[in-house]
Amino acid sequence: MAIQRTFSIIKPDATKRNLTGKIIAKFEDAGLRVVASKRIQLTLAQAQEFYGVHKDRPFFGELCEFMISEPIVVQVLEGENAIQKNRDVMGATNPADAAEGTIRKEFALSIGENSVHGSDAPETAKEEIAYFFSGLELVG
Ligand code: GDP
Ligand code: MG
Repeated sequence: MAIQRTFSIIKPDATKRNLTGKIIAKFEDAGLRVVASKRIQLTLAQAQEFYGVHKDRPFFGELCEFMISEPIVVQVLEGENAIQKNRDVMGATNPADAAEGTIRKEFALSIGENSVHGSDAPETAKEEIAYFFSGLELVG
């Protein structure tokens, strides 16, 4: 499997509880390397655009309001099989279903306030990285 890049967000519930470092340690322990990182606060329009794929879901409004409630940390993670590896270390969307040792099992508060986002496929990884980072900000 080739070296890949994936896009990650440390979500408001985690930044608010000062868990940024503990979550990054989980990525690093899994063999993922942070190759770009910044702390930002989304506007409502940006949150709605980023999560546009979910716009018809009943939780869309709640999700967007949550994502703008506090700063977030957006990152690009690099490593072998990085997209799947990140999903594995994140754990299931609902922390009640997440495996032991995963970020969501240890830190998530609920299915909505679940501490991290991670790209789900190569095309979305590419789009999501490009949405938040310029080529100049990506230092392998
Ligand atoms: P992910 O890829 O594991 O993050 O999950 P999805 O792509 O299915 O959903 C995106 C995000 O929407 C999740 O990470 C949650 O923050 C939120 N979400 C998903 N399902 C629900 C739900 O049933 N209720 C609420 N409040 N939020 C949800
Ligand atoms: Mg998803």
